[in-house]
Parts: sequence; structure tokens; C-alpha cells
Amino acid sequence: MNPLLEVRELTKHFGGVLANDRIDLAVNAGELVGIIGPNGAGKSTLFELITGFAKPDRGAIRFDGRSLLGRSTYEINRAGIARTFQKMRLFLGMTALENVMVGAIPRMDDLGEVRARARECLAFVGLADREAMPARALSTGFRKRLELARALATRPRLLLLDEVTGGVDQRAIPALMALVRRLREEGVTVVAIEHNMRVVMDLCDRIVALHLGHVIADGPPAVVSGDEQVVRAYLGHAAA
Ligand code: ADP
Ligand code: MG
Repeated sequence: MNPLLEVRELTKHFGGVLANDRIDLAVNAGELVGIIGPNGAGKSTLFELITGFAKPDRGAIRFDGRSLLGRSTYEINRAGIARTFQKMRLFLGMTALENVMVGAIPRMDDLGEVRARARECLAFVGLADREAMPARALSTGFRKRLELARALATRPRLLLLDEVTGGVDQRAIPALMALVRRLREEGVTVVAIEHNMRVVMDLCDRIVALHLGHVIADGPPAVVSGDEQVVRAYLGHAAA
């Protein structure tokens, strides 16, 4: 079976910084893969490249067997990939419902259909009773759910989550994790950049560790978390 997502030798410079350095990654349909690594490791850049927000210098990205190179963010989303952002991109003055409708609109012609799909997604993330609230009035945990709902409105097969528990109150984390688990039960393949090691260990089938733009480990959570290079990357980072 071909992987759903296949990244080969993916490379991206920003000036003198080699943000992604010949990254290889394969994700099978149905997997829940965690991406870890110290700040600046190149995790978010990898998502930028996959989703077309940035163009790679070199390498290949294939989704469902087809190359994504040169395709727009819109086309890539249309192909079945949705994402959330490390720095959330909500329309703070718009209601929760309107924010999710923005996700569904490019997929549907009928506004009633768009609203219904948006409501379905809000219900899925537990925000049905807050649909009329402006995004700005929601807590960070609820805003993260709202971003998730907006991504889901596009009916992705692959969902890329960039630090979905980042900045969220400890008490709100288990509910977010439960949501991600339910998504995968619904058949969505998930790749999650995640800083909280307890979350990664609990949630993921497999962990990929990045350091200085390289993949330094790829395997089961228990193996990767004990990997010498991974431990050293984190300790070095803490010391610096
Ligand atoms: P991570 O998400 O793992 O913390 P990033 O992918 O955001 O890391 O960043 C990797 C490196 O690339 C960092 O050194 C960062 O400063 C640099 N970088 C990322 N995006 C840009 C950009 N748009 N312009 C310049 N440098 C960038
Ligand atoms: Mg990042």
C-alpha cells in the first residue's frame, strides 16, 4: 500500500537558515503521527511546505500518489489536506459559526448547506452552544477547537495540527486529546506537531523527531522518547 502522504528529501532555506534539510516522511492512511523537536527544528516549516504556504527548494511531496509541488494552498486543501496554525488565524470579530463557515464556503455552493456543515463541525468540537459568540470572547482552548472545526469543515482526509495544545490551560488538554482521537476514529489521518511529551506519548502511533531541519528519529513513542539523539537535542536546547 502506498502511503497517503510521502515527503522525500524536502529542503527549504530561509536566508542562511536550513529550516528543512532533506526530510523524508511517510504517513499511512489512518495513522496518528506526532512530530517533536526543539524550537526552530523546522516543524512548522514542514507543514508550510506540505500545505503550499511556502515553496520548497528541493524535494518531493506526494499526497495519495499525486505530486503537490506547484499547487496553491487552495488546491492542496481541495485535494484533502487541512491544517491548524501554531499562531491561530481566526477572525476574532466574527462569530464562531462564521469562522467555520469560512472553511466550508470554498467547498459548497449553497449558503444553507455551508451553515449546516459548519454547525455539524462546531457540534463535533463541542462548541454548538457558543456558535453566536465572537471568536475573541473564547478561551484559548475553545479557540483551538474552533480552528479545528474550521479545518474539518473542508472534510480533510489528512489533518495537520500545529501545537494544538500550545498555550492551552492544562485542564483543557484532555478534552482536546479526546477530540483528536475521535477524529482518527472517524477515519481522518492526523499529523500533530506537539510539544507536550505526555500528550505525544499518549496519543500517537509513531513519533518523528526533528532537529536542525533533520529527521533524527522515526518510530514508536517509547523508542523515540528514549533515543539518545532525541534526548541530547532536547537537553542541548534546554542548556542553550
Ligand atoms: P519549529 O516549528 O520547529 O519551531 P520553524 O519551522 O518555525 O521551527 O523554523 C525553523 C527555522 O526556520 C527557524 O530558524 C526559523 O527562524 C526559520 N524560519 C521559519 N520560517 C521563516 C520565515 N518565514 N522566514 C525566515 N526564517 C524562517
Ligand atoms: Mg513551530
